Amino acid sequence: MLFDYVIVGAGLAGITIAERIATQLHKNILIIEKRDHIGGNVYDEYDAAGILVQMYGPHTFHTNDKEVFDYICQYTKWHDYQHRVLSYVNGNFVPIPISLETINQLYNMNLSESEIDDYIENQKVRIDEIKTSEDIALAQCGVDIYEKFFKYYTIKQWGVDPSRLDKSVIGRIPFRKNRDTRYFTDCYQGNPQGGFTQMCRNMLSHPEIKVMLNTDYKDVIESIEYKKLVYTGPLDYYFDYKLGKLKWRSIRFIFETHDCESYQPVASTRWPMDYEYTRITEFKKMTGQKSNKTTILKEIPCDDGEFFYTFPTNEWKMLAQQYRELAARERNVIFIGRLAEYKYYDMDDVIRRALDVFEKEIKYM
Ligand code: FAD
Ligand code: UDP
Repeated sequence: MLFDYVIVGAGLAGITIAERIATQLHKNILIIEKRDHIGGNVYDEYDAAGILVQMYGPHTFHTNDKEVFDYICQYTKWHDYQHRVLSYVNGNFVPIPISLETINQLYNMNLSESEIDDYIENQKVRIDEIKTSEDIALAQCGVDIYEKFFKYYTIKQWGVDPSRLDKSVIGRIPFRKNRDTRYFTDCYQGNPQGGFTQMCRNMLSHPEIKVMLNTDYKDVIESIEYKKLVYTGPLDYYFDYKLGKLKWRSIRFIFETHDCESYQPVASTRWPMDYEYTRITEFKKMTGQKSNKTTILKEIPCDDGEFFYTFPTNEWKMLAQQYRELAARERNVIFIGRLAEYKYYDMDDVIRRALDVFEKEIKYM
């Protein structure tokens, strides 16, 4: 059989491209996925206790991009959820991102919004050119907050000191001078009712889309006839590592089910000082599920394992750029997604990118 498109990877990038090609162009598509399920890293399933858990770490959808939100709303309804996170510092839970509330609770003060500027002015470190994650945290909040909330957490998360990481890493976390304790302030936020896997299944329900699971594309691609390839797997793997291996960061996941209704005060807690793990997620609090049991997830970052994070230092950015130049010269192949572009994309970024690639590189070809 001749396929118009073969798509490598059934994560959000591959699924969005497949959905667009099938529904807008009515062409036939084969998705080849090496795992035994669709969804990529947003995959979720019900565990033995009947709790919906996200198998590759906690995901909440959030975006300011109305077009992306409208697009994804065709395939799911939402559990209206605002992500709030508490960090365990000095024996207490306090809100992160750092906000007026965090500072008041941490230092037992009662500053108002108009007083915070003066307070922070005295704490923050003056840095002429902000380059690293250490710089950005020190320049925004000063030494004490940097050390309590960011420094050791980041060392656990990445295995290197924040002074060696690009400013974009800790720069993802805003610093707020108001009382807003939400983790994300985007206007559209939530988790799919029924879960991300169900949402992905809905996106793939078109009859022109076939999915082959449990298959590394390199094992079968020679025997498949197709016109164009869309690749969402790791960038270096496509080229058989010919410029060397890229560095990725992985996570070891520890799931625990507890015989209680509630385990912790919010869905996500951060552990910047103690323990090996960085965060604990209690899934029911994200999905709104009711049960007298609860399942939590502890995350221990590590080097070996599945590829979850691109590595945010110059060395790896430069190698990725060299691979991207090879990719640009590849005829009849489109590289897209977190792994194939070696970019720290959130879900909405990946969907945005897939919609753009469809419009510019696929629709009128
Ligand atoms: P992936 O989901 O990685 O999909 C790529 C697919 O390709 C995988 O299924 C893989 O098995 C397959 N593949 C790889 N190699 C091959 C091969 N050789 N042959 C066949 N198939 C192959 N984003 C948010 O917006 N909000 C969040 O709260 C959030 N939390 C996150 C938490 C964690 C722990 C992580 C790691 C990411 C989080 N993200 C979050 C980001 C989100 O997961 C990604 O943006 C999104 O899943 C990327 O989709 P993708 O299709 O590019 O990649
Ligand atoms: N970070 C931190 N302390 C926290 C939360 C985050 O030091 O309590 C740093 C850490 O380096 C992390 C980065 O900020 O990798 C981005 O955090 P985010 O929650 O966005 O992580 P992600 O969604 O990428 O897992």
